[in-house]
Amino acid sequence: MTYDLVVIGAGPGGFDAAADAAGYGLKVALVEKQFLGGTCLNRGCIPTKLWLGATSAVEELHNQAKMKVASGEVKVDFPALQARAGKHLAGTRKAMAMQLKKLGIDLIEGTGRLRDGKVSVETGNGEQVLEYENLVLATGSKPVFFPGLEPDGDCVLDSDMFLAMEEMPRSLVVIGAGFIGLEMAQVAHRFGAKVTVVDAMDRVAPLEDPEVSKALASVFKRWKWDVLLEKRVAGVTTEGGKGVLTLDTREKIEADKILVAVGRGPVTEGLGLEQAGVELMMNKVVVDENLMAAPNIYAVGDANGHIQLAHAASHQAHYVAARIAGRTDAPYESGPVPSVLYGAPEVMRVGMMDNEAFLTDFDTAETSKAMLAANPMAQAHASTQGFVKVVWSAGKVVGVTAVGHDVSRLVTPATMIVQQGWTVEDADKTIFPHPSLDESLLMALKGERTRVG
Ligand code: FAD
Repeated sequence: MTYDLVVIGAGPGGFDAAADAAGYGLKVALVEKQFLGGTCLNRGCIPTKLWLGATSAVEELHNQAKMKVASGEVKVDFPALQARAGKHLAGTRKAMAMQLKKLGIDLIEGTGRLRDGKVSVETGNGEQVLEYENLVLATGSKPVFFPGLEPDGDCVLDSDMFLAMEEMPRSLVVIGAGFIGLEMAQVAHRFGAKVTVVDAMDRVAPLEDPEVSKALASVFKRWKWDVLLEKRVAGVTTEGGKGVLTLDTREKIEADKILVAVGRGPVTEGLGLEQAGVELMMNKVVVDENLMAAPNIYAVGDANGHIQLAHAASHQAHYVAARIAGRTDAPYESGPVPSVLYGAPEVMRVGMMDNEAFLTDFDTAETSKAMLAANPMAQAHASTQGFVKVVWSAGKVVGVTAVGHDVSRLVTPATMIVQQGWTVEDADKTIFPHPSLDESLLMALKGERTRVG
Protein backbone atom coordinates (compact mmCIF):
# COMPACT_ATOMS: atom_id res chain seq x y z
CA MET A 1 0.00 0.00 0.00
CA THR A 2 1.17 3.53 -0.74
CA TYR A 3 0.30 6.14 1.90
CA ASP A 4 -0.94 9.54 0.78
CA LEU A 5 1.25 10.93 3.54
CA VAL A 6 4.02 9.62 5.77
CA VAL A 7 5.11 11.88 8.63
CA ILE A 8 8.37 11.37 10.50
CA GLY A 9 8.20 12.71 14.06
CA ALA A 10 5.15 13.00 16.34
CA GLY A 11 5.82 16.31 18.09
CA PRO A 12 3.37 19.22 17.65
CA GLY A 13 4.39 19.61 13.97
CA GLY A 14 4.21 15.96 12.97
CA PHE A 15 1.18 15.07 15.02
CA ASP A 16 -0.87 18.00 13.74
CA ALA A 17 0.16 17.40 10.12
CA ALA A 18 -0.90 13.75 10.41
CA ALA A 19 -4.17 14.54 12.21
CA ASP A 20 -5.20 17.28 9.76
CA ALA A 21 -4.32 15.19 6.71
CA ALA A 22 -6.36 12.25 8.05
CA GLY A 23 -9.18 14.70 8.71
CA TYR A 24 -9.03 15.65 5.01
CA GLY A 25 -9.54 11.96 4.18
CA LEU A 26 -5.91 11.05 3.37
CA LYS A 27 -4.33 7.72 4.34
CA VAL A 28 -1.57 8.60 6.79
CA ALA A 29 1.29 6.85 8.62
CA LEU A 30 3.05 8.58 11.52
CA VAL A 31 6.54 7.38 12.46
CA GLU A 32 7.84 8.11 15.98
CA LYS A 33 11.01 6.77 17.56
CA GLN A 34 10.25 7.75 21.15
CA PHE A 35 7.16 9.45 22.57
CA LEU A 36 4.01 10.87 21.05
CA GLY A 37 4.00 14.62 21.70
CA GLY A 38 7.73 15.04 21.00
CA THR A 39 9.85 17.61 22.80
CA CYS A 40 6.95 19.90 23.66
CA LEU A 41 4.89 17.38 25.62
CA ASN A 42 7.66 15.24 27.08
CA ARG A 43 10.75 17.44 27.53
CA GLY A 44 9.68 21.02 26.86
CA CYS A 45 6.63 23.27 27.02
CA ILE A 46 4.41 21.06 29.16
CA PRO A 47 6.68 19.71 31.93
CA THR A 48 8.18 23.18 32.47
CA LYS A 49 4.69 24.66 32.79
CA LEU A 50 3.65 21.88 35.20
CA TRP A 51 6.63 22.91 37.35
CA LEU A 52 5.88 26.62 37.04
CA GLY A 53 2.14 26.12 37.62
CA ALA A 54 2.64 24.01 40.73
CA THR A 55 5.05 26.55 42.23
CA SER A 56 3.42 29.82 41.17
CA ALA A 57 1.55 30.15 44.46
CA VAL A 58 4.89 30.17 46.29
CA GLU A 59 6.00 33.29 44.45
CA GLU A 60 2.59 34.92 44.84
CA LEU A 61 2.54 34.28 48.59
CA HIS A 62 6.04 35.68 48.95
CA ASN A 63 4.79 38.87 47.30
CA GLN A 64 1.81 39.02 49.65
CA ALA A 65 4.10 38.33 52.63
CA LYS A 66 6.06 41.43 51.65
CA MET A 67 2.76 43.38 51.93
CA LYS A 68 2.39 41.81 55.41
CA VAL A 69 -0.84 40.01 54.53
CA ALA A 70 0.63 36.49 54.54
CA SER A 71 3.22 34.66 56.61
CA GLY A 72 4.55 31.20 57.28
CA GLU A 73 6.18 28.68 55.01
CA VAL A 74 4.69 27.08 51.91
CA LYS A 75 6.39 24.05 50.45
CA VAL A 76 5.99 22.17 47.22
CA ASP A 77 6.87 18.47 47.30
CA PHE A 78 9.22 17.97 44.34
CA PRO A 79 9.04 14.14 44.14
CA ALA A 80 5.22 14.42 44.29
CA LEU A 81 5.32 17.04 41.54
CA GLN A 82 7.51 14.81 39.37
CA ALA A 83 5.16 11.86 39.96
CA ARG A 84 2.17 14.00 38.99
CA ALA A 85 3.99 15.30 35.90
CA GLY A 86 4.87 11.74 34.85
CA LYS A 87 1.23 10.65 35.14
CA HIS A 88 -0.01 13.72 33.31
CA LEU A 89 2.37 13.20 30.40
CA ALA A 90 1.57 9.48 30.15
CA GLY A 91 -2.16 10.27 30.19
CA THR A 92 -1.77 12.84 27.42
CA ARG A 93 0.25 10.40 25.29
CA LYS A 94 -2.48 7.81 25.76
CA ALA A 95 -5.15 10.30 24.66
CA MET A 96 -3.04 11.16 21.59
CA ALA A 97 -2.68 7.47 20.68
CA MET A 98 -6.45 7.10 20.94
CA GLN A 99 -6.94 10.13 18.70
CA LEU A 100 -4.63 8.61 16.07
CA LYS A 101 -6.62 5.38 16.18
CA LYS A 102 -9.88 7.25 15.82
CA LEU A 103 -8.53 9.12 12.80
CA GLY A 104 -7.36 5.86 11.18
CA ILE A 105 -3.68 6.91 11.27
CA ASP A 106 -1.12 4.08 11.38
CA LEU A 107 1.39 4.76 14.15
CA ILE A 108 4.70 3.11 13.31
CA GLU A 109 6.97 3.02 16.36
CA GLY A 110 10.60 3.15 15.33
CA THR A 111 13.32 5.26 13.75
CA GLY A 112 12.55 6.40 10.24
CA ARG A 113 14.97 7.29 7.47
CA LEU A 114 14.68 7.89 3.75
CA ARG A 115 15.93 5.19 1.39
CA ASP A 116 15.29 4.75 -2.34
CA GLY A 117 12.26 7.06 -2.33
CA LYS A 118 10.65 5.21 0.58
CA VAL A 119 10.72 5.50 4.36
CA SER A 120 12.50 2.67 6.09
CA VAL A 121 11.55 2.31 9.75
CA GLU A 122 13.70 0.38 12.17
CA THR A 123 11.14 -1.02 14.61
CA GLY A 124 11.54 -3.39 17.54
CA ASN A 125 10.47 -6.17 15.14
CA GLY A 126 12.79 -5.40 12.24
CA GLU A 127 12.51 -3.08 9.27
CA GLN A 128 9.22 -1.78 7.94
CA VAL A 129 9.17 -0.02 4.57
CA LEU A 130 6.56 2.66 3.86
CA GLU A 131 5.75 3.95 0.40
CA TYR A 132 4.45 7.47 0.16
CA GLU A 133 2.99 10.07 -2.18
CA ASN A 134 4.00 12.87 0.21
CA LEU A 135 6.39 13.08 3.12
CA VAL A 136 6.53 15.51 6.06
CA LEU A 137 9.75 15.80 8.03
CA ALA A 138 8.95 16.86 11.59
CA THR A 139 11.95 15.49 13.42
CA GLY A 140 12.30 18.47 15.76
CA SER A 141 15.38 19.61 17.63
CA LYS A 142 17.72 18.64 20.45
CA PRO A 143 20.01 20.53 22.82
CA VAL A 144 23.33 21.62 21.30
CA PHE A 145 26.54 22.52 23.10
CA PHE A 146 29.77 24.38 22.56
CA PRO A 147 32.93 22.27 22.98
CA GLY A 148 33.68 21.81 26.67
CA LEU A 149 30.05 22.40 27.68
CA GLU A 150 28.71 18.90 27.00
CA PRO A 151 26.57 17.53 29.85
CA ASP A 152 27.82 14.46 31.70
CA GLY A 153 24.43 13.50 33.14
CA ASP A 154 25.87 13.63 36.65
CA CYS A 155 26.02 17.24 37.87
CA VAL A 156 26.17 18.82 34.41
CA LEU A 157 22.78 18.53 32.73
CA ASP A 158 20.94 19.54 29.59
CA SER A 159 17.26 20.53 29.75
CA ASP A 160 16.07 16.94 29.11
CA MET A 161 18.14 15.68 32.07
CA PHE A 162 17.12 18.60 34.25
CA LEU A 163 13.44 17.84 33.75
CA ALA A 164 14.04 14.21 34.70
CA MET A 165 15.72 15.03 38.08
CA GLU A 166 14.44 13.28 41.19
CA GLU A 167 15.56 16.04 43.53
CA MET A 168 15.73 19.80 43.09
CA PRO A 169 19.32 21.03 43.68
CA ARG A 170 20.06 23.48 46.49
CA SER A 171 22.30 25.45 44.19
CA LEU A 172 22.08 25.79 40.43
CA VAL A 173 24.21 27.41 37.76
CA VAL A 174 22.41 28.04 34.48
CA ILE A 175 24.55 28.64 31.42
CA GLY A 176 22.46 30.58 28.92
CA ALA A 177 20.03 33.36 29.89
CA GLY A 178 17.45 32.53 27.20
CA PHE A 179 13.86 31.45 27.80
CA ILE A 180 14.60 27.79 28.60
CA GLY A 181 17.34 28.60 31.13
CA LEU A 182 15.35 31.39 32.78
CA GLU A 183 12.15 29.35 33.17
CA MET A 184 14.07 26.52 34.82
CA ALA A 185 16.05 28.91 37.00
CA GLN A 186 12.77 30.40 38.26
CA VAL A 187 11.50 26.99 39.30
CA ALA A 188 14.73 26.20 41.16
CA HIS A 189 14.50 29.61 42.86
CA ARG A 190 10.97 28.81 44.06
CA PHE A 191 12.33 25.61 45.63
CA GLY A 192 14.84 27.75 47.49
CA ALA A 193 17.89 27.04 45.32
CA LYS A 194 20.71 29.56 45.10
CA VAL A 195 20.70 30.56 41.43
CA THR A 196 23.59 31.76 39.30
CA VAL A 197 23.05 32.66 35.64
CA VAL A 198 26.00 32.95 33.28
CA ASP A 199 25.83 34.30 29.73
CA ALA A 200 28.33 35.49 27.14
CA MET A 201 26.01 38.31 26.07
CA ASP A 202 25.73 41.64 27.89
CA ARG A 203 22.13 41.13 29.04
CA VAL A 204 19.64 38.44 30.06
CA ALA A 205 17.01 37.40 27.50
CA PRO A 206 19.29 38.87 24.81
CA LEU A 207 16.82 38.33 21.98
CA GLU A 208 14.23 40.56 23.64
CA ASP A 209 13.81 44.33 23.88
CA PRO A 210 16.73 45.71 25.94
CA GLU A 211 14.22 47.34 28.33
CA VAL A 212 12.74 43.90 28.97
CA SER A 213 16.19 42.54 29.78
CA LYS A 214 16.69 45.42 32.22
CA ALA A 215 13.35 44.79 33.94
CA LEU A 216 14.13 41.07 34.29
CA ALA A 217 17.61 41.79 35.62
CA SER A 218 16.22 44.04 38.35
CA VAL A 219 13.82 41.30 39.52
CA PHE A 220 16.63 38.72 39.52
CA LYS A 221 18.76 41.12 41.57
CA ARG A 222 15.96 41.42 44.11
CA TRP A 223 15.86 37.62 44.27
CA LYS A 224 19.61 37.72 45.00
CA TRP A 225 20.57 35.74 41.91
CA ASP A 226 24.14 36.07 40.71
CA VAL A 227 23.82 37.13 37.09
CA LEU A 228 27.22 37.01 35.40
CA LEU A 229 27.16 38.59 31.96
CA GLU A 230 29.78 38.82 29.23
CA LYS A 231 31.44 35.75 30.70
CA ARG A 232 32.94 32.99 28.61
CA VAL A 233 32.75 29.48 30.00
CA ALA A 234 35.86 27.39 29.39
CA GLY A 235 34.45 24.12 30.69
CA VAL A 236 32.08 22.27 33.00
CA THR A 237 32.71 19.08 34.93
CA THR A 238 31.52 17.05 37.88
CA GLU A 239 34.06 16.95 40.69
CA GLY A 240 33.45 15.35 44.08
CA GLY A 241 29.67 15.26 43.59
CA LYS A 242 29.45 18.93 42.57
CA GLY A 243 29.17 20.70 39.25
CA VAL A 244 32.19 22.90 38.58
CA LEU A 245 32.13 25.64 35.96
CA THR A 246 35.40 27.21 34.89
CA LEU A 247 35.37 30.62 33.23
CA ASP A 248 38.02 31.55 30.68
CA THR A 249 39.50 33.75 33.41
CA ARG A 250 40.08 30.45 35.31
CA GLU A 251 37.61 31.56 37.99
CA LYS A 252 35.56 28.58 39.19
CA ILE A 253 31.91 28.42 40.24
CA GLU A 254 30.54 25.40 42.08
CA ALA A 255 26.93 24.24 42.42
CA ASP A 256 24.90 21.09 43.03
CA LYS A 257 23.84 21.13 39.39
CA ILE A 258 24.82 23.01 36.25
CA LEU A 259 22.20 23.38 33.54
CA VAL A 260 23.60 23.97 30.06
CA ALA A 261 20.92 25.80 28.07
CA VAL A 262 22.84 27.43 25.25
CA GLY A 263 20.58 26.45 22.37
CA ARG A 264 18.90 23.75 20.35
CA GLY A 265 19.62 22.48 16.85
CA PRO A 266 17.55 20.51 14.31
CA VAL A 267 17.50 16.69 14.32
CA THR A 268 18.39 15.92 10.72
CA GLU A 269 21.42 13.65 10.88
CA GLY A 270 21.25 10.06 9.65
CA LEU A 271 17.88 10.55 7.95
CA GLY A 272 19.21 10.03 4.43
CA LEU A 273 17.99 13.50 3.49
CA GLU A 274 20.76 14.54 1.10
CA GLN A 275 20.29 11.40 -1.03
CA ALA A 276 16.61 12.33 -1.31
CA GLY A 277 17.52 15.75 -2.71
CA VAL A 278 16.88 17.62 0.54
CA GLU A 279 19.30 20.47 1.17
CA LEU A 280 20.59 21.17 4.67
CA MET A 281 22.06 24.42 5.93
CA MET A 282 23.64 24.30 9.39
CA ASN A 283 21.61 21.09 9.92
CA LYS A 284 18.34 22.89 9.14
CA VAL A 285 16.15 21.55 6.34
CA VAL A 286 16.02 24.23 3.67
CA VAL A 287 12.43 24.84 2.56
CA ASP A 288 10.86 27.10 -0.04
CA GLU A 289 7.88 29.45 0.42
CA ASN A 290 5.59 26.40 0.43
CA LEU A 291 7.63 24.71 3.21
CA MET A 292 8.75 22.23 0.56
CA ALA A 293 12.26 20.78 0.81
CA ALA A 294 12.19 18.60 -2.34
CA PRO A 295 9.39 17.41 -4.62
CA ASN A 296 6.58 16.09 -2.36
CA ILE A 297 8.79 16.42 0.73
CA TYR A 298 7.93 19.10 3.29
CA ALA A 299 9.60 20.10 6.57
CA VAL A 300 7.82 21.74 9.49
CA GLY A 301 8.69 22.90 12.99
CA ASP A 302 12.10 22.93 14.61
CA ALA A 303 13.53 20.76 11.79
CA ASN A 304 13.37 23.67 9.31
CA GLY A 305 14.78 26.05 11.93
CA HIS A 306 12.43 28.94 11.07
CA ILE A 307 11.32 29.40 14.65
CA GLN A 308 11.63 27.05 17.62
CA LEU A 309 8.14 27.24 19.08
CA ALA A 310 5.45 24.58 19.33
CA HIS A 311 2.62 26.76 18.00
CA ALA A 312 4.78 27.75 15.02
CA ALA A 313 5.33 24.03 14.27
CA SER A 314 1.59 23.38 14.51
CA HIS A 315 0.70 26.35 12.30
CA GLN A 316 3.12 25.17 9.62
CA ALA A 317 1.71 21.64 9.94
CA HIS A 318 -1.88 22.83 9.37
CA TYR A 319 -0.74 24.62 6.22
CA VAL A 320 1.24 21.67 4.85
CA ALA A 321 -1.61 19.21 5.45
CA ALA A 322 -4.03 21.57 3.67
CA ARG A 323 -1.59 21.93 0.79
CA ILE A 324 -1.10 18.18 0.41
CA ALA A 325 -4.87 17.71 0.51
CA GLY A 326 -5.22 20.26 -2.30
CA ARG A 327 -7.01 22.83 -0.09
CA THR A 328 -4.51 25.60 -0.77
CA ASP A 329 -1.79 26.43 -3.24
CA ALA A 330 -0.89 29.80 -1.71
CA PRO A 331 2.58 30.24 -0.19
CA TYR A 332 2.93 29.81 3.58
CA GLU A 333 2.26 32.93 5.68
CA SER A 334 2.88 32.68 9.38
CA GLY A 335 1.57 36.12 10.31
CA PRO A 336 2.94 37.54 13.58
CA VAL A 337 4.27 34.73 15.78
CA PRO A 338 3.77 35.31 19.52
CA SER A 339 6.31 34.16 22.09
CA VAL A 340 6.16 33.97 25.88
CA LEU A 341 8.62 33.49 28.72
CA TYR A 342 6.51 32.00 31.50
CA GLY A 343 6.98 32.41 35.23
CA ALA A 344 6.81 35.54 37.37
CA PRO A 345 7.74 37.92 35.86
CA GLU A 346 6.66 36.86 32.41
CA VAL A 347 7.63 38.27 29.03
CA MET A 348 5.44 38.37 25.94
CA ARG A 349 6.29 39.62 22.50
CA VAL A 350 4.59 39.64 19.14
CA GLY A 351 5.54 41.43 15.96
CA MET A 352 8.36 43.94 15.71
CA MET A 353 10.59 45.44 18.36
CA ASP A 354 11.61 49.14 18.17
CA ASN A 355 14.78 48.49 16.22
CA GLU A 356 12.99 46.34 13.65
CA ALA A 357 10.29 49.00 13.13
CA PHE A 358 13.04 51.62 12.78
CA LEU A 359 14.83 49.55 10.13
CA THR A 360 11.53 49.02 8.26
CA ASP A 361 10.54 52.71 8.21
CA PHE A 362 12.69 55.04 10.32
CA ASP A 363 10.45 58.03 9.54
CA THR A 364 7.35 56.67 11.28
CA ALA A 365 8.68 54.20 13.89
CA GLU A 366 7.28 55.11 17.32
CA THR A 367 6.67 53.50 20.69
CA SER A 368 4.16 54.10 23.47
CA LYS A 369 4.23 52.55 26.89
CA ALA A 370 2.23 51.90 30.07
CA MET A 371 3.78 50.91 33.39
CA LEU A 372 2.14 48.05 35.30
CA ALA A 373 2.53 50.07 38.53
CA ALA A 374 -0.70 51.92 37.58
CA ASN A 375 -2.68 48.73 36.93
CA PRO A 376 -5.14 47.58 39.64
CA MET A 377 -4.67 43.87 38.92
CA ALA A 378 -0.88 44.17 39.15
CA GLN A 379 -1.39 46.08 42.41
CA ALA A 380 -3.76 43.40 43.74
CA HIS A 381 -1.10 40.78 43.08
CA ALA A 382 1.53 42.96 44.75
CA SER A 383 3.59 42.65 41.61
CA THR A 384 3.75 46.02 39.92
CA GLN A 385 7.13 45.93 38.17
CA GLY A 386 7.09 45.89 34.40
CA PHE A 387 5.43 47.52 31.42
CA VAL A 388 3.57 47.07 28.16
CA LYS A 389 5.15 48.66 25.11
CA VAL A 390 3.46 49.17 21.75
CA VAL A 391 5.54 49.63 18.59
CA TRP A 392 4.05 51.68 15.75
CA SER A 393 4.89 52.14 12.12
CA ALA A 394 2.98 54.55 9.85
CA GLY A 395 0.37 55.00 12.59
CA LYS A 396 -0.38 51.28 12.91
CA VAL A 397 0.56 48.79 15.60
CA VAL A 398 3.34 46.49 14.37
CA GLY A 399 4.51 45.02 17.66
CA VAL A 400 3.73 44.59 21.35
CA THR A 401 6.16 43.62 24.10
CA ALA A 402 5.37 43.27 27.79
CA VAL A 403 7.20 42.21 30.92
CA GLY A 404 5.74 41.64 34.39
CA HIS A 405 3.34 39.54 36.40
CA ASP A 406 0.89 37.51 34.26
CA VAL A 407 1.59 39.41 31.02
CA SER A 408 1.26 36.15 29.06
CA ARG A 409 -2.50 36.73 29.25
CA LEU A 410 -2.03 39.72 26.91
CA VAL A 411 -0.44 37.69 24.16
CA THR A 412 -3.53 36.66 22.20
CA PRO A 413 -5.20 40.11 22.11
CA ALA A 414 -1.79 41.61 21.26
CA THR A 415 -1.34 39.13 18.40
CA MET A 416 -4.74 40.04 16.99
CA ILE A 417 -4.01 43.75 17.35
CA VAL A 418 -0.72 43.38 15.47
CA GLN A 419 -2.26 41.14 12.85
CA GLN A 420 -5.08 43.64 12.24
CA GLY A 421 -2.65 46.58 12.30
CA TRP A 422 -4.72 48.60 14.76
CA THR A 423 -4.69 52.37 14.77
CA VAL A 424 -5.39 54.33 17.94
CA GLU A 425 -8.99 54.76 16.70
CA ASP A 426 -9.43 50.97 16.81
CA ALA A 427 -8.40 51.07 20.47
CA ASP A 428 -10.98 53.81 21.09
CA LYS A 429 -13.71 51.64 19.59
CA THR A 430 -12.97 48.68 21.86
CA ILE A 431 -14.09 48.17 25.47
CA PHE A 432 -11.41 46.71 27.72
CA PRO A 433 -12.80 45.22 30.97
CA HIS A 434 -12.08 46.83 34.34
CA PRO A 435 -10.19 45.88 36.37
CA SER A 436 -7.92 43.81 34.17
CA LEU A 437 -4.31 43.61 33.10
CA ASP A 438 -5.61 44.21 29.58
CA GLU A 439 -6.17 47.84 30.57
CA SER A 440 -2.38 48.24 30.56
CA LEU A 441 -2.45 47.25 26.92
CA LEU A 442 -5.13 49.89 26.30
CA MET A 443 -3.10 52.50 28.20
CA ALA A 444 -0.03 51.63 26.16
CA LEU A 445 -2.04 51.88 22.93
CA LYS A 446 -3.32 55.30 23.93
CA GLY A 447 -0.10 56.47 25.54
CA GLU A 448 2.12 59.30 24.41
CA ARG A 449 4.24 58.23 21.47
CA THR A 450 7.98 58.65 21.22
CA ARG A 451 9.95 58.53 17.97
CA VAL A 452 12.39 55.61 17.73
CA GLY A 453 15.98 56.48 17.01
P1 FAD B 1 9.59 17.98 18.39
O1 FAD B 1 8.58 18.35 19.37
O2 FAD B 1 11.02 18.03 18.79
O3 FAD B 1 9.25 16.51 17.92
C1 FAD B 1 10.05 15.80 17.02
C2 FAD B 1 9.75 14.32 17.17
O4 FAD B 1 10.40 13.62 16.11
C3 FAD B 1 10.28 13.71 18.47
O5 FAD B 1 9.24 13.04 19.13
C4 FAD B 1 11.37 12.74 18.01
O6 FAD B 1 11.44 11.58 18.83
C5 FAD B 1 10.89 12.38 16.60
N1 FAD B 1 11.94 11.92 15.71
C6 FAD B 1 13.11 12.55 15.43
N2 FAD B 1 13.79 11.82 14.50
C7 FAD B 1 13.04 10.73 14.22
C8 FAD B 1 13.23 9.63 13.35
N3 FAD B 1 14.31 9.49 12.57
N4 FAD B 1 12.25 8.70 13.30
C9 FAD B 1 11.14 8.80 14.08
N5 FAD B 1 10.92 9.83 14.91
C10 FAD B 1 11.86 10.79 14.97
N6 FAD B 1 7.71 26.04 22.70
C11 FAD B 1 6.62 26.80 22.90
O7 FAD B 1 5.94 27.16 21.95
N7 FAD B 1 6.26 27.17 24.17
C12 FAD B 1 6.97 26.81 25.25
O8 FAD B 1 6.61 27.17 26.37
C13 FAD B 1 8.12 26.01 25.07
N8 FAD B 1 8.86 25.62 26.12
C14 FAD B 1 9.93 24.82 25.92
C15 FAD B 1 10.68 24.41 27.01
C16 FAD B 1 11.77 23.58 26.83
C17 FAD B 1 12.56 23.13 28.03
C18 FAD B 1 12.13 23.15 25.51
C19 FAD B 1 13.30 22.24 25.31
C20 FAD B 1 11.40 23.56 24.42
C21 FAD B 1 10.31 24.39 24.60
N9 FAD B 1 9.56 24.85 23.52
C22 FAD B 1 8.46 25.64 23.74
C23 FAD B 1 9.92 24.50 22.13
C24 FAD B 1 9.01 23.36 21.60
O9 FAD B 1 9.10 22.26 22.44
C25 FAD B 1 9.42 23.00 20.20
O10 FAD B 1 9.46 24.16 19.40
C26 FAD B 1 8.44 22.01 19.58
O11 FAD B 1 8.38 20.83 20.33
C27 FAD B 1 8.83 21.70 18.15
O12 FAD B 1 7.93 20.78 17.63
P2 FAD B 1 8.37 19.79 16.45
O13 FAD B 1 7.14 19.01 16.10
O14 FAD B 1 9.03 20.54 15.39
O15 FAD B 1 9.49 18.84 17.07
